[in-house]
Amino acid sequence: MKEVEYLMNTPARLPVGLVKGNGCRVTDEAGKTYLDMVAGIAVCNLGHCHPAVVEALKSQVETLFHCSNLYRIPVQERFAEMLSKNAFNGKLFFCNSGAEANEGAIKLIRRYSADKGKRGSKIITCSGSFHGRTITTVAATGQIKFRKGFDPITEGFVHVDYGSIEAVKEVLDESIGGIILEPIQGESGIRIPPSGYLEELRDLCDRSGILLCLDEVQTGFSRTGKLFAYMYENMTPDIMTMAKAIANGFPAGAIMAREEVAEVFVPGTHASTFGGNPLAMAAGLATLEVMIKEDMPSRSMKMGAYFTGRLQELKKVHPSLIEIRGKGLMIGAEFDTDISFMTKEGLARGILLNTIGDRIIRLVPPIVITESEIDMAVSLIDEILKEKGL
Ligand code: PLP
Repeated sequence: MKEVEYLMNTPARLPVGLVKGNGCRVTDEAGKTYLDMVAGIAVCNLGHCHPAVVEALKSQVETLFHCSNLYRIPVQERFAEMLSKNAFNGKLFFCNSGAEANEGAIKLIRRYSADKGKRGSKIITCSGSFHGRTITTVAATGQIKFRKGFDPITEGFVHVDYGSIEAVKEVLDESIGGIILEPIQGESGIRIPPSGYLEELRDLCDRSGILLCLDEVQTGFSRTGKLFAYMYENMTPDIMTMAKAIANGFPAGAIMAREEVAEVFVPGTHASTFGGNPLAMAAGLATLEVMIKEDMPSRSMKMGAYFTGRLQELKKVHPSLIEIRGKGLMIGAEFDTDISFMTKEGLARGILLNTIGDRIIRLVPPIVITESEIDMAVSLIDEILKEKGL
């Protein structure tokens, strides 16, 4: 594509240039509008250009948009307090992305092991996981394809089967200081572990003195029908990482850790120039306020149930659609055949669809989506499947 001549060829870019967004719709350069089932990959949970977030950004940009963390940043303190009180009362460190949040969490686990000295510095992660694209987070990620050609990568990760407590027990020795995992795996196709898994892990971590870190980068901020996905179970993590929907599309990430863990980070141990800057924090605060005031977790649960129900109807008439799984509006529709054409066919019909591998459609629309928009999405998918004879 001539248009992207000056860009590195990292994503497999689709031939459409998006210039505007509003709620569940985006518009391209030619003025064509698309129904958005991607939301920037689980980012714009309140919908594109949510007025409260736009207002917060406008007002902050006219006031102060960068300030070093060498100084107090009041809007950052307010956002930290609100996040903490709506999760497990942990302390916050702000950064700029999911990978950076996980990098920080890995440092926190290692530093905790070094300072509080009960355990080694190795970290357990899971097969099929995704934790980011930096050299250390690709090492943590349990999918070889993301590591290929990048050796030497960071050492110190032990991979186990996702969803299995026994697998964790098998590798748990004195060298292990923590475990990092997603409550639902997003990038490997919306994989949901058995219920009770997180509670059992919590118990195992408590008994063996290792830290439990949940990567809620994709599952967080109402996506799964709870503010954070761990809230489905009777447990809290020691550390949680966040990014994506945290500021509804303004780049930001965060680590939350319970106080006794957080205190191993002292001046000089970790930092970020842009992390927690006033603009990101104003957007984050506005996002969380709307999310709580308008009870977005319940909306995600309700719309997710409706979407899943409509997809189940589709499954009855399209035998190639073999499984629909998900929680809230984090839904995977798995086929027994290659459906990678869905993204391009969707574009032609005015819908943004995302596929994982060549057999799974990932549906993570803005949570403000309506039933009629879901109906429209289902009928467009139906139309494509019919045309392909699937
Ligand atoms: N962790 C999870 C669970 C993710 O889904 C992602 C991105 O898809 C990341 C981490 C990395 O986030 P970022 O792309 O913001 O670095």
